[in-house]
Amino acid sequence: MAGVSLVCVPLVGKSVEQMLSEMATATAGGADVAEIRLDHLASFEPRRDLDLLLRNRPLPVLVTYRPNWEGGEYEGDDGWRFEALLLAMELGAEYVDIELKVAQEFVDFLSGKRPDGTKLIVSSHNYQSTPSIEDLSILVARIQAVGADIVKIATTAVDITDVARMFKVMVHCQVPMIGLVMGDRGLMSRILCPKFGGYLTFAALSTGKESAPGQPSLSDLLDIYNIKQIKADTKVYGVVGKPVAHSKGPIIHGTAFRSVGYNAVYLPLLVDDFESFLSTYSSPDFAGFSVTMPHKEAALACSDEVDPIVKYIGAVNTLIKRPSDGKLIGYNTDYTGSISAIETTLQGKVPGASLADRIFVVIGAGGAGKALAYGAREKGARVVIANRTYERARELANFVGGQAISLADLENFHPEEGMILANTTSVGMYPNIHDTPLSKQALKSYALVFDAIYNPTLTRLLREAEELGVTIVTGVEMFVRQAMGQFEIFTGLPAPEKLMRETLLNFH
Ligand code: NAP
Repeated sequence: MAGVSLVCVPLVGKSVEQMLSEMATATAGGADVAEIRLDHLASFEPRRDLDLLLRNRPLPVLVTYRPNWEGGEYEGDDGWRFEALLLAMELGAEYVDIELKVAQEFVDFLSGKRPDGTKLIVSSHNYQSTPSIEDLSILVARIQAVGADIVKIATTAVDITDVARMFKVMVHCQVPMIGLVMGDRGLMSRILCPKFGGYLTFAALSTGKESAPGQPSLSDLLDIYNIKQIKADTKVYGVVGKPVAHSKGPIIHGTAFRSVGYNAVYLPLLVDDFESFLSTYSSPDFAGFSVTMPHKEAALACSDEVDPIVKYIGAVNTLIKRPSDGKLIGYNTDYTGSISAIETTLQGKVPGASLADRIFVVIGAGGAGKALAYGAREKGARVVIANRTYERARELANFVGGQAISLADLENFHPEEGMILANTTSVGMYPNIHDTPLSKQALKSYALVFDAIYNPTLTRLLREAEELGVTIVTGVEMFVRQAMGQFEIFTGLPAPEKLMRETLLNFH
Protein backbone atom coordinates (compact mmCIF):
# COMPACT_ATOMS: atom_id res chain seq x y z
CA MET A 1 0.00 0.00 0.00
CA ALA A 2 1.48 3.34 -1.02
CA GLY A 3 1.82 6.17 1.47
CA VAL A 4 4.43 7.47 3.84
CA SER A 5 7.72 5.56 4.02
CA LEU A 6 9.95 5.81 7.05
CA VAL A 7 13.35 7.41 6.58
CA CYS A 8 16.08 5.47 8.39
CA VAL A 9 19.61 6.75 8.93
CA PRO A 10 22.32 4.10 9.40
CA LEU A 11 24.73 4.92 12.22
CA VAL A 12 28.19 3.98 11.03
CA GLY A 13 30.35 5.41 13.87
CA LYS A 14 33.19 3.28 15.16
CA SER A 15 32.33 3.91 18.83
CA VAL A 16 29.17 4.09 20.91
CA GLU A 17 29.84 7.79 21.54
CA GLN A 18 30.03 8.48 17.82
CA MET A 19 26.83 6.55 17.24
CA LEU A 20 25.01 8.46 19.98
CA SER A 21 26.12 11.72 18.44
CA GLU A 22 25.04 10.52 14.97
CA MET A 23 21.67 9.52 16.41
CA ALA A 24 21.18 13.02 17.86
CA THR A 25 22.07 14.59 14.50
CA ALA A 26 19.74 12.23 12.64
CA THR A 27 16.90 13.14 15.02
CA ALA A 28 17.50 16.86 14.54
CA GLY A 29 17.71 16.31 10.77
CA GLY A 30 14.24 14.73 10.62
CA ALA A 31 14.96 10.97 10.45
CA ASP A 32 12.21 8.56 11.59
CA VAL A 33 14.43 5.61 12.53
CA ALA A 34 18.15 5.08 13.27
CA GLU A 35 19.85 1.86 12.26
CA ILE A 36 22.45 0.78 14.79
CA ARG A 37 25.07 -1.07 12.78
CA LEU A 38 26.72 -3.09 15.53
CA ASP A 39 29.20 -4.53 13.03
CA HIS A 40 30.71 -1.05 12.57
CA LEU A 41 31.75 -0.74 16.24
CA ALA A 42 35.50 -1.22 16.69
CA SER A 43 34.86 -2.90 20.06
CA PHE A 44 31.53 -4.12 21.32
CA GLU A 45 30.51 -5.14 24.83
CA PRO A 46 26.84 -6.13 24.24
CA ARG A 47 25.26 -5.56 27.65
CA ARG A 48 27.02 -2.26 28.33
CA ASP A 49 26.89 -0.86 24.79
CA LEU A 50 23.34 -1.86 23.85
CA ASP A 51 22.11 -0.44 27.11
CA LEU A 52 23.89 2.85 26.36
CA LEU A 53 22.60 2.95 22.79
CA LEU A 54 19.01 2.02 23.56
CA ARG A 55 18.32 3.50 26.99
CA ASN A 56 17.62 7.14 26.10
CA ARG A 57 17.18 6.76 22.39
CA PRO A 58 15.46 9.76 20.80
CA LEU A 59 14.26 7.68 17.85
CA PRO A 60 12.95 4.18 17.17
CA VAL A 61 15.91 1.96 16.31
CA LEU A 62 16.67 -0.85 13.93
CA VAL A 63 19.49 -3.07 15.21
CA THR A 64 21.60 -4.79 12.57
CA TYR A 65 24.72 -6.90 13.09
CA ARG A 66 25.73 -7.58 9.50
CA PRO A 67 28.24 -10.39 8.84
CA ASN A 68 30.90 -9.99 6.16
CA TRP A 69 29.33 -12.75 4.06
CA GLU A 70 26.31 -10.41 3.54
CA GLY A 71 28.29 -7.20 2.92
CA GLY A 72 28.80 -6.22 6.60
CA GLU A 73 31.87 -5.99 8.83
CA TYR A 74 31.24 -8.71 11.46
CA GLU A 75 33.61 -11.65 11.11
CA GLY A 76 32.70 -13.88 14.07
CA ASP A 77 30.22 -16.72 14.47
CA ASP A 78 26.44 -16.50 14.46
CA GLY A 79 25.94 -17.57 18.09
CA TRP A 80 27.41 -14.31 19.41
CA ARG A 81 25.40 -12.26 16.93
CA PHE A 82 22.15 -14.00 17.79
CA GLU A 83 22.69 -13.38 21.51
CA ALA A 84 23.35 -9.67 20.86
CA LEU A 85 20.24 -9.32 18.68
CA LEU A 86 18.11 -11.10 21.31
CA LEU A 87 19.46 -8.69 23.91
CA ALA A 88 18.52 -5.75 21.67
CA MET A 89 14.99 -7.15 21.47
CA GLU A 90 14.83 -7.54 25.24
CA LEU A 91 15.92 -3.92 25.63
CA GLY A 92 13.01 -2.86 23.43
CA ALA A 93 14.56 -2.23 20.00
CA GLU A 94 11.72 -1.49 17.61
CA TYR A 95 13.28 -3.50 14.76
CA VAL A 96 15.93 -6.18 14.42
CA ASP A 97 17.38 -7.27 11.08
CA ILE A 98 18.47 -10.82 10.31
CA GLU A 99 19.77 -12.15 7.01
CA LEU A 100 17.60 -14.65 5.14
CA LYS A 101 20.46 -17.17 4.93
CA VAL A 102 20.35 -17.72 8.72
CA ALA A 103 16.82 -16.47 9.44
CA GLN A 104 15.37 -19.92 10.17
CA GLU A 105 18.20 -20.64 12.63
CA PHE A 106 17.61 -17.28 14.30
CA VAL A 107 13.86 -17.88 14.56
CA ASP A 108 14.56 -21.33 16.09
CA PHE A 109 17.05 -19.71 18.49
CA LEU A 110 14.41 -17.18 19.56
CA SER A 111 11.75 -19.83 20.03
CA GLY A 112 9.99 -19.40 23.36
CA LYS A 113 12.00 -16.33 24.34
CA ARG A 114 11.11 -13.82 21.59
CA PRO A 115 10.06 -10.55 23.23
CA ASP A 116 6.91 -8.86 21.94
CA GLY A 117 7.16 -5.45 20.46
CA THR A 118 10.17 -5.91 18.19
CA LYS A 119 9.50 -6.30 14.49
CA LEU A 120 11.70 -8.81 12.71
CA ILE A 121 13.11 -7.68 9.37
CA VAL A 122 14.44 -10.55 7.28
CA SER A 123 16.83 -9.28 4.63
CA SER A 124 18.44 -10.45 1.44
CA HIS A 125 21.22 -8.56 -0.38
CA ASN A 126 22.42 -9.07 -3.92
CA TYR A 127 25.50 -6.98 -4.76
CA GLN A 128 25.66 -8.09 -8.40
CA SER A 129 22.29 -7.65 -10.07
CA THR A 130 18.49 -7.51 -9.78
CA PRO A 131 16.71 -10.81 -10.45
CA SER A 132 13.60 -11.27 -12.60
CA ILE A 133 10.13 -10.45 -11.21
CA GLU A 134 9.50 -14.20 -10.77
CA ASP A 135 12.72 -14.70 -8.79
CA LEU A 136 12.07 -11.62 -6.67
CA SER A 137 8.56 -12.92 -5.91
CA ILE A 138 9.98 -16.30 -4.88
CA LEU A 139 12.42 -14.48 -2.60
CA VAL A 140 9.57 -12.52 -1.00
CA ALA A 141 7.67 -15.78 -0.39
CA ARG A 142 10.74 -17.42 1.20
CA ILE A 143 11.25 -14.42 3.49
CA GLN A 144 7.58 -14.45 4.50
CA ALA A 145 7.74 -18.20 5.15
CA VAL A 146 10.39 -17.82 7.87
CA GLY A 147 8.08 -15.49 9.78
CA ALA A 148 9.35 -12.01 8.85
CA ASP A 149 7.26 -9.07 9.97
CA ILE A 150 8.96 -7.00 7.28
CA VAL A 151 10.55 -8.20 4.05
CA LYS A 152 13.78 -6.47 3.01
CA ILE A 153 15.33 -7.07 -0.40
CA ALA A 154 18.28 -5.02 -1.65
CA THR A 155 19.61 -5.72 -5.13
CA THR A 156 21.97 -3.92 -7.49
CA ALA A 157 21.05 -1.90 -10.58
CA VAL A 158 23.04 -2.75 -13.68
CA ASP A 159 20.59 -0.56 -15.60
CA ILE A 160 17.97 1.93 -14.43
CA THR A 161 15.23 -0.31 -15.87
CA ASP A 162 16.07 -2.91 -13.16
CA VAL A 163 14.32 -0.71 -10.61
CA ALA A 164 10.95 -1.18 -12.34
CA ARG A 165 10.96 -4.88 -11.35
CA MET A 166 11.47 -4.01 -7.70
CA PHE A 167 8.59 -1.50 -7.86
CA LYS A 168 6.29 -4.14 -9.41
CA VAL A 169 7.05 -6.66 -6.67
CA MET A 170 6.79 -4.08 -3.89
CA VAL A 171 3.42 -2.77 -5.01
CA HIS A 172 1.93 -6.28 -4.89
CA CYS A 173 3.62 -7.44 -1.68
CA GLN A 174 1.09 -8.49 0.99
CA VAL A 175 3.38 -7.72 3.94
CA PRO A 176 5.39 -4.55 4.63
CA MET A 177 8.39 -4.53 2.32
CA ILE A 178 11.63 -2.61 1.98
CA GLY A 179 12.72 -2.96 -1.65
CA LEU A 180 15.87 -1.08 -2.63
CA VAL A 181 18.08 -1.21 -5.67
CA MET A 182 21.65 -0.20 -4.88
CA GLY A 183 24.06 1.82 -7.02
CA ASP A 184 23.77 5.12 -8.92
CA ARG A 185 21.40 3.58 -11.44
CA GLY A 186 19.10 2.50 -8.60
CA LEU A 187 18.75 5.89 -6.87
CA MET A 188 15.11 6.20 -7.97
CA SER A 189 14.21 3.15 -5.82
CA ARG A 190 15.38 4.97 -2.71
CA ILE A 191 13.32 8.09 -3.41
CA LEU A 192 10.09 6.74 -4.90
CA CYS A 193 9.38 4.13 -2.23
CA PRO A 194 6.36 6.03 -0.84
CA LYS A 195 4.86 5.97 -4.33
CA PHE A 196 5.26 2.22 -4.63
CA GLY A 197 4.44 1.25 -1.06
CA GLY A 198 7.95 0.78 0.38
CA TYR A 199 7.93 0.55 4.17
CA LEU A 200 11.25 2.31 4.74
CA THR A 201 14.20 3.82 2.92
CA PHE A 202 17.74 4.54 4.05
CA ALA A 203 19.47 7.91 3.99
CA ALA A 204 23.09 8.69 4.86
CA LEU A 205 23.57 11.20 7.66
CA SER A 206 25.82 13.14 5.30
CA THR A 207 27.69 12.53 2.09
CA GLY A 208 30.48 10.02 2.84
CA LYS A 209 28.49 8.25 5.57
CA GLU A 210 26.62 5.90 3.22
CA SER A 211 26.21 2.32 4.42
CA ALA A 212 25.37 1.05 0.92
CA PRO A 213 26.08 2.21 -2.64
CA GLY A 214 23.75 4.91 -3.98
CA GLN A 215 22.28 6.05 -0.66
CA PRO A 216 21.17 9.71 -0.82
CA SER A 217 21.81 12.00 2.15
CA LEU A 218 19.05 12.71 4.68
CA SER A 219 18.88 16.38 3.71
CA ASP A 220 18.66 15.57 -0.02
CA LEU A 221 15.87 13.09 0.61
CA LEU A 222 13.87 15.50 2.76
CA ASP A 223 14.67 18.87 1.17
CA ILE A 224 15.45 18.24 -2.51
CA TYR A 225 13.27 15.19 -3.16
CA ASN A 226 10.65 16.17 -0.61
CA ILE A 227 10.06 12.49 0.19
CA LYS A 228 7.47 13.13 2.89
CA GLN A 229 5.15 14.64 0.27
CA ILE A 230 5.49 11.76 -2.22
CA LYS A 231 2.28 9.74 -2.56
CA ALA A 232 0.94 7.09 -4.93
CA ASP A 233 -0.29 9.73 -7.37
CA THR A 234 2.83 11.94 -7.30
CA LYS A 235 4.12 12.58 -10.82
CA VAL A 236 7.74 11.77 -11.63
CA TYR A 237 9.99 14.11 -13.62
CA GLY A 238 13.75 14.04 -13.92
CA VAL A 239 16.88 14.81 -15.83
CA VAL A 240 17.96 11.97 -18.09
CA GLY A 241 21.67 11.88 -18.86
CA LYS A 242 24.98 10.11 -18.46
CA PRO A 243 26.62 11.40 -16.33
CA VAL A 244 23.88 13.15 -14.39
CA ALA A 245 25.03 13.35 -10.75
CA HIS A 246 26.39 16.90 -11.24
CA SER A 247 23.06 18.25 -12.52
CA LYS A 248 21.48 21.21 -10.75
CA GLY A 249 18.09 20.19 -12.21
CA PRO A 250 16.83 18.35 -9.08
CA ILE A 251 17.51 21.28 -6.77
CA ILE A 252 16.03 23.90 -9.12
CA HIS A 253 12.97 21.95 -10.24
CA GLY A 254 12.37 20.30 -6.85
CA THR A 255 12.35 23.70 -5.16
CA ALA A 256 10.15 25.21 -7.87
CA PHE A 257 7.61 22.34 -7.74
CA ARG A 258 7.36 22.67 -3.98
CA SER A 259 6.92 26.45 -4.11
CA VAL A 260 3.76 26.15 -6.19
CA GLY A 261 2.46 23.01 -4.45
CA TYR A 262 2.82 20.88 -7.59
CA ASN A 263 2.45 17.20 -6.69
CA ALA A 264 5.64 15.99 -8.39
CA VAL A 265 9.19 14.88 -7.71
CA TYR A 266 12.25 15.56 -9.91
CA LEU A 267 15.08 13.01 -9.99
CA PRO A 268 18.51 12.54 -11.52
CA LEU A 269 18.07 9.59 -13.91
CA LEU A 270 21.30 7.87 -14.95
CA VAL A 271 20.24 6.29 -18.24
CA ASP A 272 22.32 4.19 -20.64
CA ASP A 273 19.67 3.47 -23.30
CA PHE A 274 17.04 6.19 -23.71
CA GLU A 275 14.56 4.10 -25.68
CA SER A 276 14.47 1.20 -23.23
CA PHE A 277 14.18 3.68 -20.35
CA LEU A 278 11.10 5.25 -21.98
CA SER A 279 9.46 1.94 -22.79
CA THR A 280 10.05 0.60 -19.27
CA TYR A 281 8.69 3.68 -17.51
CA SER A 282 5.79 4.12 -19.91
CA SER A 283 3.13 4.90 -17.29
CA PRO A 284 1.66 8.41 -17.47
CA ASP A 285 3.00 9.02 -13.96
CA PHE A 286 6.52 9.30 -15.44
CA ALA A 287 5.33 12.55 -16.89
CA GLY A 288 8.30 14.46 -18.30
CA PHE A 289 12.03 14.72 -18.60
CA SER A 290 14.83 17.18 -19.05
CA VAL A 291 17.27 15.56 -21.45
CA THR A 292 20.98 16.15 -21.39
CA MET A 293 24.11 14.64 -22.97
CA PRO A 294 24.29 12.14 -24.62
CA HIS A 295 20.54 11.61 -25.15
CA LYS A 296 19.32 14.79 -26.88
CA GLU A 297 19.33 13.23 -30.36
CA ALA A 298 17.72 10.01 -29.08
CA ALA A 299 15.01 12.12 -27.43
CA LEU A 300 14.24 13.70 -30.82
CA ALA A 301 14.03 10.25 -32.42
CA CYS A 302 11.61 9.09 -29.68
CA SER A 303 9.33 12.16 -29.91
CA ASP A 304 5.92 11.71 -31.54
CA GLU A 305 5.65 15.43 -32.18
CA VAL A 306 8.09 18.34 -32.04
CA ASP A 307 8.13 22.04 -32.65
CA PRO A 308 9.46 22.41 -36.28
CA ILE A 309 12.61 24.35 -35.28
CA VAL A 310 13.55 21.46 -32.97
CA LYS A 311 13.84 19.19 -36.04
CA TYR A 312 16.41 21.55 -37.54
CA ILE A 313 18.35 21.87 -34.32
CA GLY A 314 18.38 18.06 -34.17
CA ALA A 315 18.09 17.92 -30.38
CA VAL A 316 15.32 17.72 -27.80
CA ASN A 317 16.12 18.82 -24.25
CA THR A 318 12.59 18.56 -22.85
CA LEU A 319 10.15 15.70 -23.34
CA ILE A 320 6.66 15.35 -21.89
CA LYS A 321 3.90 12.79 -22.14
CA ARG A 322 0.80 14.65 -23.30
CA PRO A 323 -1.85 13.78 -20.69
CA SER A 324 -4.71 13.53 -23.23
CA ASP A 325 -3.17 10.77 -25.37
CA GLY A 326 0.22 9.84 -23.87
CA LYS A 327 2.09 11.04 -26.97
CA LEU A 328 5.68 12.18 -26.43
CA ILE A 329 6.13 15.84 -27.27
CA GLY A 330 9.67 17.18 -27.69
CA TYR A 331 10.87 20.75 -27.10
CA ASN A 332 14.16 22.59 -27.04
CA THR A 333 14.34 25.20 -24.31
CA ASP A 334 18.11 25.66 -24.83
CA TYR A 335 17.44 27.82 -27.85
CA THR A 336 14.58 29.80 -26.33
CA GLY A 337 16.56 30.20 -23.09
CA SER A 338 19.74 31.46 -24.70
CA ILE A 339 18.11 33.74 -27.25
CA SER A 340 15.76 35.30 -24.70
CA ALA A 341 18.71 35.87 -22.33
CA ILE A 342 20.60 37.72 -25.07
CA GLU A 343 17.61 39.69 -26.33
CA THR A 344 16.48 40.78 -22.86
CA THR A 345 19.98 41.95 -21.93
CA LEU A 346 20.29 43.86 -25.19
CA GLN A 347 16.95 45.58 -24.59
CA GLY A 348 18.00 46.38 -21.02
CA LYS A 349 20.85 48.43 -22.52
CA VAL A 350 19.02 49.89 -25.49
CA PRO A 351 15.22 49.87 -25.22
CA GLY A 352 13.66 48.45 -28.36
CA ALA A 353 16.92 46.89 -29.59
CA SER A 354 16.47 43.67 -31.52
CA LEU A 355 18.51 40.90 -33.10
CA ALA A 356 16.97 41.53 -36.53
CA ASP A 357 19.60 42.35 -39.18
CA ARG A 358 22.47 42.21 -36.70
CA ILE A 359 25.49 40.05 -37.33
CA PHE A 360 25.32 37.16 -34.87
CA VAL A 361 28.55 35.14 -34.68
CA VAL A 362 28.30 31.64 -33.23
CA ILE A 363 31.54 29.88 -32.27
CA GLY A 364 30.91 26.13 -32.37
CA ALA A 365 28.65 23.91 -34.43
CA GLY A 366 27.61 21.25 -31.90
CA GLY A 367 24.29 20.96 -30.06
CA ALA A 368 24.39 24.37 -28.39
CA GLY A 369 25.82 25.95 -31.58
CA LYS A 370 22.88 24.73 -33.64
CA ALA A 371 20.39 25.92 -31.00
CA LEU A 372 21.90 29.44 -31.01
CA ALA A 373 22.27 29.57 -34.79
CA TYR A 374 18.64 28.58 -35.51
CA GLY A 375 17.36 30.75 -32.68
CA ALA A 376 19.24 33.79 -34.02
CA ARG A 377 18.06 33.15 -37.55
CA GLU A 378 14.47 32.94 -36.33
CA LYS A 379 14.92 36.43 -34.90
CA GLY A 380 16.10 37.70 -38.28
CA ALA A 381 19.82 37.98 -37.44
CA ARG A 382 22.55 37.47 -40.06
CA VAL A 383 24.28 34.36 -38.74
CA VAL A 384 28.01 33.66 -39.04
CA ILE A 385 29.41 30.31 -37.86
CA ALA A 386 33.03 29.80 -36.81
CA ASN A 387 34.13 26.34 -35.79
CA ARG A 388 37.33 24.36 -35.22
CA THR A 389 36.18 21.85 -37.83
CA TYR A 390 35.46 24.19 -40.71
CA GLU A 391 33.39 21.61 -42.59
CA ARG A 392 30.85 21.53 -39.73
CA ALA A 393 30.70 25.34 -39.71
CA ARG A 394 29.94 25.30 -43.44
CA GLU A 395 27.25 22.69 -43.05
CA LEU A 396 25.48 24.60 -40.28
CA ALA A 397 25.88 27.92 -42.13
CA ASN A 398 24.23 26.36 -45.19
CA PHE A 399 21.30 25.15 -43.10
CA VAL A 400 20.66 28.52 -41.51
CA GLY A 401 21.38 30.51 -44.66
CA GLY A 402 24.42 32.11 -43.03
CA GLN A 403 28.15 32.44 -43.60
CA ALA A 404 30.97 30.13 -42.42
CA ILE A 405 34.32 31.44 -41.30
CA SER A 406 37.45 29.85 -39.87
CA LEU A 407 38.47 30.46 -36.27
CA ALA A 408 41.66 32.15 -37.51
CA ASP A 409 39.69 34.57 -39.72
CA LEU A 410 37.37 35.39 -36.83
CA GLU A 411 40.30 37.17 -35.13
CA ASN A 412 40.11 39.97 -37.71
CA PHE A 413 36.39 39.89 -38.45
CA HIS A 414 34.81 43.28 -37.84
CA PRO A 415 32.64 44.26 -40.79
CA GLU A 416 30.37 46.48 -38.70
CA GLU A 417 29.50 47.73 -35.21
CA GLY A 418 26.91 46.20 -32.88
CA MET A 419 27.69 42.54 -33.54
CA ILE A 420 26.77 39.72 -31.13
CA LEU A 421 29.21 36.91 -30.24
CA ALA A 422 28.05 33.58 -28.78
CA ASN A 423 30.57 30.98 -27.64
CA THR A 424 29.03 27.51 -27.72
CA THR A 425 32.24 25.48 -27.46
CA SER A 426 33.58 24.08 -24.22
CA VAL A 427 36.74 26.22 -24.51
CA GLY A 428 37.21 27.96 -21.14
CA MET A 429 35.11 25.48 -19.18
CA TYR A 430 36.32 24.15 -15.83
CA PRO A 431 39.05 22.93 -15.34
CA ASN A 432 40.55 24.74 -18.38
CA ILE A 433 39.47 28.13 -17.10
CA HIS A 434 42.47 29.99 -18.57
CA ASP A 435 41.50 29.08 -22.15
CA THR A 436 39.41 31.32 -24.36
CA PRO A 437 38.05 30.84 -27.88
CA LEU A 438 38.86 34.38 -29.11
CA SER A 439 41.51 36.97 -28.23
CA LYS A 440 40.62 39.97 -26.07
CA GLN A 441 41.64 42.25 -28.90
CA ALA A 442 39.00 40.73 -31.21
CA LEU A 443 36.20 41.24 -28.68
CA LYS A 444 36.28 45.01 -29.24
CA SER A 445 34.09 44.58 -32.33
CA TYR A 446 31.12 43.25 -30.37
CA ALA A 447 28.21 44.95 -28.61
CA LEU A 448 27.40 41.83 -26.59
CA VAL A 449 29.27 38.61 -25.78
CA PHE A 450 27.48 35.47 -24.60
CA ASP A 451 29.09 32.27 -23.30
CA ALA A 452 27.07 29.02 -23.02
CA ILE A 453 29.52 27.67 -20.43
CA TYR A 454 28.10 27.88 -16.89
CA ASN A 455 31.07 26.52 -14.96
CA PRO A 456 32.66 28.95 -14.22
CA THR A 457 29.97 31.61 -14.43
CA LEU A 458 32.48 34.24 -15.50
CA THR A 459 34.69 32.62 -18.12
CA ARG A 460 37.89 34.25 -19.34
CA LEU A 461 36.00 35.26 -22.52
CA LEU A 462 33.33 37.08 -20.49
CA ARG A 463 35.85 38.61 -18.10
CA GLU A 464 37.88 40.08 -20.97
CA ALA A 465 34.74 41.33 -22.72
CA GLU A 466 33.63 43.01 -19.50
CA GLU A 467 37.06 44.65 -19.10
CA LEU A 468 36.54 46.19 -22.54
CA GLY A 469 33.12 47.52 -21.52
CA VAL A 470 31.24 45.00 -23.68
CA THR A 471 27.86 43.78 -22.38
CA ILE A 472 27.96 40.12 -21.32
CA VAL A 473 25.44 37.30 -20.84
CA THR A 474 26.43 34.20 -18.88
CA GLY A 475 25.64 30.53 -19.41
CA VAL A 476 24.02 30.57 -15.96
CA GLU A 477 21.41 32.99 -17.33
CA MET A 478 20.78 30.58 -20.23
CA PHE A 479 20.57 27.69 -17.78
CA VAL A 480 17.99 29.44 -15.59
CA ARG A 481 15.88 30.37 -18.58
CA GLN A 482 15.95 26.91 -20.16
CA ALA A 483 14.92 25.49 -16.75
CA MET A 484 12.10 28.05 -16.50
CA GLY A 485 10.92 27.00 -19.96
CA GLN A 486 10.94 23.37 -18.84
CA PHE A 487 9.00 24.18 -15.67
CA GLU A 488 6.28 25.85 -17.73
CA ILE A 489 6.09 22.90 -20.12
CA PHE A 490 5.97 20.42 -17.21
CA THR A 491 3.39 22.19 -15.07
CA GLY A 492 1.51 24.59 -17.34
CA LEU A 493 2.18 27.26 -14.68
CA PRO A 494 4.33 30.40 -14.85
CA ALA A 495 7.86 29.67 -13.60
CA PRO A 496 8.83 31.18 -10.22
CA GLU A 497 11.72 33.09 -11.81
CA LYS A 498 13.18 34.76 -8.73
CA LEU A 499 13.18 31.55 -6.72
CA MET A 500 14.73 29.48 -9.54
CA ARG A 501 17.45 32.06 -10.12
CA GLU A 502 18.27 32.33 -6.41
CA THR A 503 18.25 28.56 -5.97
CA LEU A 504 20.73 28.12 -8.81
CA LEU A 505 23.00 30.89 -7.56
CA ASN A 506 22.94 29.54 -3.99
CA PHE A 507 23.95 26.07 -5.11
CA HIS A 508 26.30 27.07 -7.91
P1 NAP B 1 29.04 19.55 -28.52
O1 NAP B 1 27.81 19.22 -29.28
O2 NAP B 1 29.98 18.45 -28.19
O3 NAP B 1 29.84 20.67 -29.37
C1 NAP B 1 31.09 21.11 -28.97
C2 NAP B 1 31.57 22.23 -29.90
O4 NAP B 1 32.76 22.76 -29.31
C3 NAP B 1 31.95 21.77 -31.30
O5 NAP B 1 31.64 22.77 -32.21
C4 NAP B 1 33.47 21.57 -31.19
O6 NAP B 1 34.16 21.76 -32.41
C5 NAP B 1 33.84 22.69 -30.25
N1 NAP B 1 35.07 22.42 -29.52
C6 NAP B 1 35.26 21.49 -28.56
N2 NAP B 1 36.52 21.55 -28.10
C7 NAP B 1 37.14 22.56 -28.78
C8 NAP B 1 38.45 23.12 -28.75
N3 NAP B 1 39.38 22.64 -27.91
N4 NAP B 1 38.71 24.14 -29.57
C9 NAP B 1 37.78 24.65 -30.41
N5 NAP B 1 36.54 24.15 -30.49
C10 NAP B 1 36.21 23.13 -29.68
O7 NAP B 1 28.68 20.25 -27.13
P2 NAP B 1 27.40 21.15 -26.76
O8 NAP B 1 26.33 20.29 -26.20
O9 NAP B 1 27.06 22.00 -27.90
O10 NAP B 1 27.95 21.99 -25.52
C11 NAP B 1 28.92 23.01 -25.74
C12 NAP B 1 29.02 23.89 -24.49
O11 NAP B 1 27.77 24.52 -24.22
C13 NAP B 1 29.39 23.14 -23.23
O12 NAP B 1 30.31 23.91 -22.49
C14 NAP B 1 28.07 23.03 -22.48
O13 NAP B 1 28.27 22.96 -21.07
C15 NAP B 1 27.41 24.33 -22.86
N6 NAP B 1 25.94 24.28 -22.72
C16 NAP B 1 25.38 25.13 -21.82
C17 NAP B 1 24.01 25.14 -21.63
C18 NAP B 1 23.41 26.10 -20.63
O14 NAP B 1 22.24 25.95 -20.24
N7 NAP B 1 24.14 27.13 -20.24
C19 NAP B 1 23.17 24.26 -22.36
C20 NAP B 1 23.78 23.42 -23.30
C21 NAP B 1 25.17 23.44 -23.47
P3 NAP B 1 34.36 20.57 -33.47
O15 NAP B 1 33.15 20.57 -34.33
O16 NAP B 1 35.59 20.93 -34.18
O17 NAP B 1 34.52 19.29 -32.67
